[in-house]
Amino acid sequence: MSHFSDRVDKALADDNLSEALKKATSQLVSRRSTAFSSLEDAENLRDIARNTKMKILHNLEDNLLKFEKSLQKNGSHVHWAKDAEEANNVVIEIAQKQAVKKIVKSKSMLSEEIHLNTALIKAGMQVVETDLGEYIVQLAGDKPSHIIAPIIHMTREDVGNLMHDRLSVPFSDEPEVLTRIARRKLRQEFLDADMGITGANFGVVETGSICLVTNEGNARMVTTLPKIHVVLIGIEKLVATFEDLNRFLKLLARSATGQKLSVYTSIIQGPGKGTETGPEEVHVVLVDNGRSGMLGGDLAESLACIRCGACLNVCPIYKNIGGHAYGDTYAGPIGSIITPGLRGLAQWHELPAASTLCGACKEVCPIRIDIPKMLLKLRQVTPPKVKASISLRMAIKCFAVIAGIPKVYKGFTAFGSRLLRFLGSKSWLTNNIPLLDRWTKVRDFKTPAKKSFQRMWQEKIAKDGK
Ligand code: SF4
Repeated sequence: MSHFSDRVDKALADDNLSEALKKATSQLVSRRSTAFSSLEDAENLRDIARNTKMKILHNLEDNLLKFEKSLQKNGSHVHWAKDAEEANNVVIEIAQKQAVKKIVKSKSMLSEEIHLNTALIKAGMQVVETDLGEYIVQLAGDKPSHIIAPIIHMTREDVGNLMHDRLSVPFSDEPEVLTRIARRKLRQEFLDADMGITGANFGVVETGSICLVTNEGNARMVTTLPKIHVVLIGIEKLVATFEDLNRFLKLLARSATGQKLSVYTSIIQGPGKGTETGPEEVHVVLVDNGRSGMLGGDLAESLACIRCGACLNVCPIYKNIGGHAYGDTYAGPIGSIITPGLRGLAQWHELPAASTLCGACKEVCPIRIDIPKMLLKLRQVTPPKVKASISLRMAIKCFAVIAGIPKVYKGFTAFGSRLLRFLGSKSWLTNNIPLLDRWTKVRDFKTPAKKSFQRMWQEKIAKDGK
């Protein structure tokens, strides 16, 4: 895989991406804020949701065993998978037993995390994504770049061109036209599929229910038309009761898309019984894949995440580089914790450093997850061998010495500001400042003002005589 800084450079140089991100994230942020302003007692609801989620996580083992019993009572088969390989093998075995050839999928970040599609295709099955965004991602041979908006990095024109190329349809950049084309293509896939795979937004412990929310209704088709339904659920996705579920649904839809409720909320309660429509078999795969290792540790709080994506939309880093630069399934502030948490810090140590620690993520998180605190913790425990370069460390050490002696510091800043003003007048500041050239490649380094604020303040005091 390419280096993080190379991915960032690539993203920053992409004007199309920048335009698409700016537009989409600002729309999502404003919708969220309108939706929350109309929610009565929103702050209290957030507190309750946080407390109930932390309580579930605190006693996760017991809750998982109860959930397993409730699922079985409903007639679902339960499977446990300790890692990605086990999870993929469980799904492949279920499929092979029933001679499954075609699989339709509803959006699942967990399936992205464990690279399920690759495993299924390798095992000889055809997999079709049915969420519109995921369908487009699959057509492009790409990866989703946002938790809830997989193609946030694409413009309408991008999608129009892609469909024109891959599906041999006339070009259009009208969302209605493009959606109609996808719908027509997908309808037959639903009818032909032998197996449906979904993730799960929540699992309700007391009733053994799987809750899925979508805005397109594709999850309903995936869970009712094929004869087998496989649910992939991370072990942290539990809520205790339907009452709790109700609270989380209110928060999720508002935080994710600014809706009061998602258009489709499906509650799966085992296979179809008697005259009910529904699959003949429901298999629930409870996936750990590194989550239990995070429980009880400094990153445990991140397991309370309900994947609404709100923290991505307000993050100044995400808004500029998009999801692909993060290099793995989960992007943005929460991804910078989950990815090192699940996959190990040694390989992913740059992610926690890619934050301004402005705190906007914590402010919008419906569960009030303290993302900045965990990012700082990860920075502190970054192994010494992957710490900053020698030149950067030397520069910081020199700065610490200079900043510790006020007279020297004043002299240096006065000299530095004069030098920068001189270089700025020769348009030298872009691309040429040692150690800062990666930054100045994408934005100008401002020329210092002739008079510093401190100087102006001192002059004002002297003039006013105060
Ligand atoms: S950390 Fe909070 S804001 Fe970010 S995706 Fe998770 S629940 Fe949403």
